[in-house]
Amino acid sequence: MRITTRRRPSVPDPKPCEHCGRLLAPRTVEVEFGMQGTSEVFAGWEPCGCEGAVAARAEWEAGRERAEHAAEEARWERTLESSGIPPRYRGATHPWAARLAGRLSAGDGVYLHGPNGTGKTTLACAAALICMRNGMGVKFAVATKLLDGLREFGDGQRELLESLVRCDLLIVDDLGKEGAATPRAAEKLFDLFNDRYNAQTLADPKPILVTSNFPRGEVAARVSQGGSGLAIASRLKETTYAVPMDGEDWRKGGARER
Ligand SMILES: [Zn+2]
Repeated sequence: MRITTRRRPSVPDPKPCEHCGRLLAPRTVEVEFGMQGTSEVFAGWEPCGCEGAVAARAEWEAGRERAEHAAEEARWERTLESSGIPPRYRGATHPWAARLAGRLSAGDGVYLHGPNGTGKTTLACAAALICMRNGMGVKFAVATKLLDGLREFGDGQRELLESLVRCDLLIVDDLGKEGAATPRAAEKLFDLFNDRYNAQTLADPKPILVTSNFPRGEVAARVSQGGSGLAIASRLKETTYAVPMDGEDWRKGGARER
């Protein structure tokens, strides 16, 4: 024999409003308990309409909004921190940022090149911030530091590389700056670009954004003498639009081969 125990409704008595003393009725909802039928379940007291109670609810709501805002800010700070974008660029803005972000969001890689002082890194970071606000996972790596980090190969490097392959958008800043890297590091950099290239799908196009003082045709020899530099340059040519930062072409919306 099956014994079922009907749940006892546990609905408290009315209670007085703490602001005006008026008795407030308990509210209940009907809840189904499977085979046992339905039961009334307590769901809080009726809200009081007195001035004190209304003000208290408004104060509570404002507090909740402040807490949500603070949590959102903290999340954003953590996102910024883990992106690797340098602190001084975390508020970067640039007139072309939205346009570049649009292109990156669409999955197109971009190679920004031009002399120092043309705002390449500012533009790259400003666009990255827009992409991040739109939910893209971004990793920012300074090329020289990245190449230094790739000289040795261990668990730390493996994790770093995996995160750089996995992220939605990879930014490599100032490629070609410090002359030749070690052949091994250059090879690893090629692997990184190549892994992203091989992992891309229509849903996850894995664009890269490179900034450099040199056009793509010159960057090969600056990254590494020999095969890896050429392989990197060739991969970049396949996966990025070259945009010179003298400005003219970008303003016209085009991308020029160099
Ligand atoms: Zn009241």
